[in-house]
Amino acid sequence: MLKKTVEIDITGIVQGVGFRPFLFNLARNLDLKGYILNRGNAGVRLVLQGNSINIDNFIEDIEVESPKISYIEEIIVKELGSDTIYNILEIKSSEQGRGISLTLPPDIAICDNCLVDMRNKNLSTYYEYPFIACATCGPRYTTVNALPYDRERTTMIKFPFCESCISEYSDFDNRRFHAQTFACSTCGPNYMLYDKSKQEIIKNSIKDILIETAMRINNGEVAAVKGIGGVHLVCLADNHDTILRLRKRKGKRKNKPFALMVPNTDLIDTYLKISSKERELLTSYRRPIVLLEKKETYKRSTLSELIAPGLNNIGIMLPYTGIHYLLFDLIGEKPLIYTSGNPSNIPMGIDNDKIFDQLRDLADFYLLHNRPIYQRADDSVLRIHDDKVKLIRRSRGYVPEYLPLPFKVDVPGALATGPELALTGAVLRRNRIFPTQHIGNVTHLETYDYLKDTLFHMKNLLQIENSELKFVACDAHPAFITTKYARELSSQYNMPLYPIQHHHAHVLGLMAENSIAPEEKIVGIAVDGIGYGEDGNVWGGEIFLSSYNGYKRLAHLEYQPMIGGDRCTKYPARMVASILLNSLDREGAKNLFSKLSIEQDLEYKETELSAIISQFEHSSKPYPSENIPLTSSTGRIFDSISYLLGASNIKTYRGEPAMKLEGLALKGNANNINLDIDFSKKNGIYIINTSKILQDVLELREESKNTREDIAAKFQEELGRTFAEVAIRVAQNNNITKIGLTGGVAYNYSFSQAIKNQILKAGLDFLEHDLIPPGDAGISIGQLIGGLFHYLNEKN
Ligand SMILES: [Zn+2]
Ligand SMILES: [Zn+2]
Repeated sequence: MLKKTVEIDITGIVQGVGFRPFLFNLARNLDLKGYILNRGNAGVRLVLQGNSINIDNFIEDIEVESPKISYIEEIIVKELGSDTIYNILEIKSSEQGRGISLTLPPDIAICDNCLVDMRNKNLSTYYEYPFIACATCGPRYTTVNALPYDRERTTMIKFPFCESCISEYSDFDNRRFHAQTFACSTCGPNYMLYDKSKQEIIKNSIKDILIETAMRINNGEVAAVKGIGGVHLVCLADNHDTILRLRKRKGKRKNKPFALMVPNTDLIDTYLKISSKERELLTSYRRPIVLLEKKETYKRSTLSELIAPGLNNIGIMLPYTGIHYLLFDLIGEKPLIYTSGNPSNIPMGIDNDKIFDQLRDLADFYLLHNRPIYQRADDSVLRIHDDKVKLIRRSRGYVPEYLPLPFKVDVPGALATGPELALTGAVLRRNRIFPTQHIGNVTHLETYDYLKDTLFHMKNLLQIENSELKFVACDAHPAFITTKYARELSSQYNMPLYPIQHHHAHVLGLMAENSIAPEEKIVGIAVDGIGYGEDGNVWGGEIFLSSYNGYKRLAHLEYQPMIGGDRCTKYPARMVASILLNSLDREGAKNLFSKLSIEQDLEYKETELSAIISQFEHSSKPYPSENIPLTSSTGRIFDSISYLLGASNIKTYRGEPAMKLEGLALKGNANNINLDIDFSKKNGIYIINTSKILQDVLELREESKNTREDIAAKFQEELGRTFAEVAIRVAQNNNITKIGLTGGVAYNYSFSQAIKNQILKAGLDFLEHDLIPPGDAGISIGQLIGGLFHYLNEKN
């Protein structure tokens, strides 16, 4: 019989997904000897000896039969001389290897087998044990502090295996053979139940703790429940009083929608619309929050309107860890609110003392555990446009996965610090970009520290040496904290700093994920709230002719003054006042103010309105001035229309007025309304006229035959159509065939759809996001791409 010895190197997601046990059993069944070695980021190496046909079969079977969540990038086989004779097959202890990627998966939802074990009364150590896990499920990214992925480098090191767990770990027929993060009720972590004064309420069995928790939740109390990557506030979703209490406690962000967790998809099918793509994502091992549209039947549900006030969709997720399932078993098959347990703009606590401290005024009691969380990860949030994923928050279940660049890059490492709000950071390694998990708004010190910590954790996981850092990229806003941080990094690591314009960063991400070639150009439509423009104004409704090397701004929304700057973002009435003062004479504007009772929606009523008018009249034209910046923001126009149509009069969370406008528009029919948005061309640049939109909408509102819903629907469609029409002209003038859409306003489905339809109708290609978040969470990725081209150009 012909014998041979081979060395096989496998790279990809090959740790923490049951890959070593899989390889071991595959080799064992083919009677191969030798060893399997985990080499950290360098992947898995096997040296196998045996019958030559069996070895060939082994190699063929790797890809066909590999575990579900694993991902194989490359298999390299090398035949070795046969000096050594191997008598046994073993998994050797891991060694540290360097590679170009990360071999670690994101956190994985509890698998069906573990669920069955958790409910099996005959398995005394697993029955109702919430931390049950196996080689193919359980937390990963949030528990690992370094690679290679072995128990001693996870937070499970605190819990030495008991004898029964050791025997499972060593038994190659067991699902927990060489699993790293499992434990049982004898040796593993535990849940504890505390009241507000940190006293343990019940110290007996997990069963008693769960019963007490379920009872309190059913009685309308708000629980803080610690899970995989952080803590949730949990309460009934059908109890108006409970939710009202939680909303009041939340204070400032009082309207922010809550996500729901439902025990299964039955409830979704009754009250919410769900496509097969949405179902697939909801039930995937990633278990994100998916925004689903309400059905007509939703009104008949017992779900409180306070869950997502004024919105047409609602964030839903399915249970993803043992504790979620065990609680549903006792609370019953009803939806629960599961919202991140953190005060406004501060990262949620991950250690118990911090959780007590932060949630003092929010939770009635605490269900906490003693397993440390190494990396915090919020639930990921997304919505689907047809079959494309629009990630809103890319976190648990997605991080640390990378985004590949569509060209060869030899740069060993680089960093990007993101914009300022709702941000992520990102690390470049060769042609791969590794965004951090969702960080939030770094205007708060704790959030800023969180950004620094995760950025360097990602760099360390990737084993990038300081000397390998070649550049740092940031936003072009000179005053952003993240820009200052990038400056510090630049001098600390002696690397160039590349500021990248905000909307160009949006477009760059879009280009890369749509495989645009390095020399190619596209027309990019970037629509969002705010971004620092190179003329010092606040941009946000931009059409660029874009390459990886730079951009030309060839169209934008008309500049409008923002009297009082950022206050216009919080109070849409102020933005409306600014636009009307700018576009009408004083008397005309004042007439409209009194007709709209606009002062009612300003914090200081009449006084504030008078101040706005006087500030406007006394400002030195032309703008901008310090107190009256100019903006071409699409978000501010959405806010203004939302205000005029009565959908929203104050912003209590990011995107609220625009989201409420979308909620209103969904109930309307655009075809009932006549509204034209026009544009002009000045010095080669197209300007979309926004002053007239407000006046037109006000006039439409006067006519009794028009409903607010119809006007809202028409506005979104018409603004989308106009953006597309202008972008098509820019494309045709420059012989471009591809037009892309990006930015936070791109989450709006009918607005995006209007743009897409128009572009396709013109016979051009439409580019959209599917992997990178369209909003500011995607900016750090674009910054790295922009920085990369600056770096390469300077080097050559
Ligand atoms: Zn499992
Ligand atoms: Zn055990």
